[in-house]
Amino acid sequence: MNQTPSGKQSDLVARSLRSVWHPCTQMQHHETLPLVPVSHGRGAWLYDTNGDRYLDAISSWWVNLFGHANPRINSALKLQLDLLEHAMLAGFTHEPVVQLSEQLAARTGDVLGHCFYASDGASAVEIALKMSFHAWRNNGQSEKREFVCLKGSYHGETIGALAVTDVPIFRDAYGPMLQHAHVVMSPDARAARDGESAADVARRAAVELEALFQDRSKYIAAIIVEPLVQCATGMAMYDPVYLQEIRALCDRYHVHLIADEIAVGCGRTGTFFACEQAAIWPDFLCLSKGISGGYLPLSLVMTRDAIYQAFYDTDVARGFLHSHSYTGNPLACRAALATLAIFDEDDVINANRVRAARLTDALAPLAAHAQVSNFRQRGMIWAFDAVVDDADAAATFSRRFFTTALEHELLLRPIGRTVYMMPPYILNNEEIDGLAARTHTVFEKVMRT
Ligand SMILES: *Cc1c(COP(=O)(O)O)cnc(C)c1O
Repeated sequence: MNQTPSGKQSDLVARSLRSVWHPCTQMQHHETLPLVPVSHGRGAWLYDTNGDRYLDAISSWWVNLFGHANPRINSALKLQLDLLEHAMLAGFTHEPVVQLSEQLAARTGDVLGHCFYASDGASAVEIALKMSFHAWRNNGQSEKREFVCLKGSYHGETIGALAVTDVPIFRDAYGPMLQHAHVVMSPDARAARDGESAADVARRAAVELEALFQDRSKYIAAIIVEPLVQCATGMAMYDPVYLQEIRALCDRYHVHLIADEIAVGCGRTGTFFACEQAAIWPDFLCLSKGISGGYLPLSLVMTRDAIYQAFYDTDVARGFLHSHSYTGNPLACRAALATLAIFDEDDVINANRVRAARLTDALAPLAAHAQVSNFRQRGMIWAFDAVVDDADAAATFSRRFFTTALEHELLLRPIGRTVYMMPPYILNNEEIDGLAARTHTVFEKVMRT
């Protein structure tokens, strides 16, 4: 029978395993893998029904930016709840969705001045892909219908998003259902050859992309990339020069650039948008995850006026007719506005630099561990690879690490052999030091067994 980390049986766990099909999980593993029955959250901590607590060092799958039960987001939502919970966005509009669109556009200097809404990240990716294809089609270039993604890319798990995802464990079973995409070299800095810098790898990857564009750009609608960090593949970090190179290539070969900032946006890499670090803007920018502070499902695609104008016409069929029932949900937009307000009120981007420096320092002993390789950090993301023998060993390592971390009051969920941290932007010094020390302890325990 499944037990919680503290060893006590939980009725909630048993009922959940009977009735809830949990995501991203081989359910049989729960015969031994703990399922944590959460009762409440506060700040960076989640509490279970046994009274045990866990530091949410991965922001509950990268969504929670300012802690659980955040008082400022809570009160904004309570006010909105008594005003308007939802209204359809076709033919209607409301203050929260307008304000959010204006504020996000302003953060791009109004380059990406048009916001289209959905509820989850994968849907935002679908929208960007469809908009790109449809924009070319409206401009008389319907032969541009192919997409390019990076090796190891992850853009979500609906059929269209999965087609530009290159993670075999998510993709392979559905291969026959998916449209072919061009997969090009990742600029992952770990691919550096002797004497090569991260920027050299980035330029080498861009040269490979140019070869494809020379051959096929007539048929290519867009390339989709995660700026700076390919997260779900295992926190592959790369030099910003790659984004500058591909921006130039996209301009030269008339290909749209889609920046999937679903994971890396909202301050995660050290600037509000990751693209800022390369001083470029894409043609489409997808946001989700952190944008609502981890409160409610919300995603959006921001795009340029030139794209918007390609749809603007008397002809209905030239419009972008895509829709989701909860498009622009006022509660979710209000949570997002409260989240953006915290960025400004607390000067979060700068405050995170101080937090990041402290955690990087505190992790130095672990980074130097003989069985740790590729320790890396960008903004509020830390990752390292455990030295293990093969893929099976990596999978075992990952599950054992998760379980052992729970026993040490930590929520950490490695991706294979890659251990990473993506904490909320609220950790105090004690929490930062505790996170580093406990992670070290957990790692040594797991590597010894
Ligand atoms: C999580 C994620 C998605 C998918 O978002 P969902 O809300 O899970 O559908 C897409 N792209 C990236 C980069 C992500 O991290």
